[in-house]
Amino acid sequence: MSLKLKRATSSSLFHSDEESVTKKAHQLYQAFVASLERCEATKDERVFLQIVQGWLKDNVSAFEPDERRIYALDDFSSLALEELPIEYSDLNAAEEFERLRDASPSSLEGLAARIRDILWAGLVIRSRKRCPRCNEDDLKVLQETSSSQLVYTCDMCGWAQLRDGTEWSCRGEVAPAPTAMLRRHGLLSRGI
Ligand SMILES: [Zn+2]
Repeated sequence: MSLKLKRATSSSLFHSDEESVTKKAHQLYQAFVASLERCEATKDERVFLQIVQGWLKDNVSAFEPDERRIYALDDFSSLALEELPIEYSDLNAAEEFERLRDASPSSLEGLAARIRDILWAGLVIRSRKRCPRCNEDDLKVLQETSSSQLVYTCDMCGWAQLRDGTEWSCRGEVAPAPTAMLRRHGLLSRGI
């Protein structure tokens, strides 16, 4: 797992200008939205993400190698969703679905970024620690896969720290922190 810590801006990659939508991206996007619609996935965040991940697994080969790498599509498609704290995340399936339906991707990269953003929002929980560098967002909680220690990161500026506030400088691989690990650290019951 080598998720990028800082999210690329994806909003600018989406607009409703049909002329600039590539045929392939548009077809993939329509199939993606249809799969969510069919399964009534918008009523439950966990079901929603299962459908998103299932669709990604089936279609990941449609994306360019660079898109797969930059947006960690292969990593996201292989995560064990049952181990992750979806119910504690910021994701609202109904709102996400509305946004998806209203905004066609202008490119395959736009679709890749959107899918990554949805999975990131649903699988990585937000802490109550404010980013000490930019002060614009609360830090998200990840785990460093080699050591299983918690790493807090900022979506806005890319800052990363350990729980005690020390800057995380080794920059090894990270992954969403599993529910069991967050519980073990007492984070889900009394604030993070
Ligand atoms: Zn920041």
